[in-house]
Amino acid sequence: MIQHDVDLTAANTLGLPATAERLVTVTSLAQAHEALVEAERHDWPLTVIGGGSNLVLEPWLPGLVVRPALTDYWLEPADGDTVRVHVGAGVNWHELVVAMAERGLWGIENLALIPGQAGAAPIQNIGAYGVELAEVLETVHLLERDGARERVLGRDECAFGYRDSVFKHALENRVIITRLVLRLSHRPRPRLDYGDLAARVPASPSAADVVAAVSAVRREKLPDPAVLGNAGSFFTNPIVDAEKAQRLLDEWPDMPHFPLPDGHVKLAAGWLIDRCGLKGVRDGHVGVHDRQALVLVHHGGGSAAELLALAERVTAMVEARFGVRLTREPRVLGEAVPGKA
Ligand SMILES: Cc1cc2nc3c(=O)[nH]c(=O)nc-3n(C[C@H](O)[C@H](O)[C@H](O)COP(=O)(O)OP(=O)(O)OC[C@H]3O[C@@H](n4cnc5c(N)ncnc54)[C@H](O)[C@@H]3O)c2cc1C
Repeated sequence: MIQHDVDLTAANTLGLPATAERLVTVTSLAQAHEALVEAERHDWPLTVIGGGSNLVLEPWLPGLVVRPALTDYWLEPADGDTVRVHVGAGVNWHELVVAMAERGLWGIENLALIPGQAGAAPIQNIGAYGVELAEVLETVHLLERDGARERVLGRDECAFGYRDSVFKHALENRVIITRLVLRLSHRPRPRLDYGDLAARVPASPSAADVVAAVSAVRREKLPDPAVLGNAGSFFTNPIVDAEKAQRLLDEWPDMPHFPLPDGHVKLAAGWLIDRCGLKGVRDGHVGVHDRQALVLVHHGGGSAAELLALAERVTAMVEARFGVRLTREPRVLGEAVPGKA
């Protein structure tokens, strides 16, 4: 059933005030199909919102907002030690990670405690602690806006990159992802080379041990959106060529940097922001988190405009000091001024 003028303040982890002109929660493929047909028939703009943890919502979302609530998943034995996991788009990502680890299935344990729904995971190819979704994803099942056609994309068709995929480009706002198929393995393969993870797990850890360790580190480092509005990292880590990295290192020898296989170098956006003296600054109702400079926070009573102005200030200061342009990670959805769709 389509609802009108729905308040989305509690539907985004930044807690920004926003209203959906129309909203429908879909619990089946048939309902998702119906929603697309309606949007097409009326020529409504279409927006999909999952857990709302990677969004900056402008005050007005015109057209139709779809909220996926396909919450089933099932396992299918595959080759060797592996299992295919079919996951509905509305499944809570962290609950899936925990359930798989408890079954002794490996592959997504390092992605513990990332907020949001499984259906959103391919959008920015979620990643953490040295692992990305693309490593275990087999297919993405979706409905395309044009003609409400069902399509299955293989991993190669998703054009995955660092926090990037085809869903941020050619297919942006054109699809409802309904299901993912992941390939997980019973064979232990702990990935502990990131941070101090290795020191936090027993020898020969279980997948559940890794989930516990990753969760503990994340709780220490990141603000809980239930307590302080935020969307996790507000900027991706910039990637520069080796020459640029060397010039920066000559000036800032302690600058964290991670050489990539293609010769480029990834820098730590949080460090760059911190070195501009921005950690903990507050600008009206918004600010930079006082422990993690990569996270912008909303203290309440603010707006998308205030937050985006702060993001622009941060970006300009980092660019002036280091000559590196930061890229925003969360998607900005909606319109600043209410208008009719
Ligand atoms: C505290 C915190 C920590 C975080 N840590 C990480 C991290 O370590 N690594 C990381 O990669 N991300 C991280 N994030 C970002 C975020 O959790 C992920 O990007 C997550 O996948 C977003 O899921 P969501 O359901 O909340 O998506 P939403 O925020 O609701 O949506 C994000 C985008 O996906 C689209 N979308 C959502 N569902 C669908 C669907 N079914 N079909 C089509 N489009 C869809 C939306 O239109 C939007 O463009 C963090 C966020 C927070 C708040």
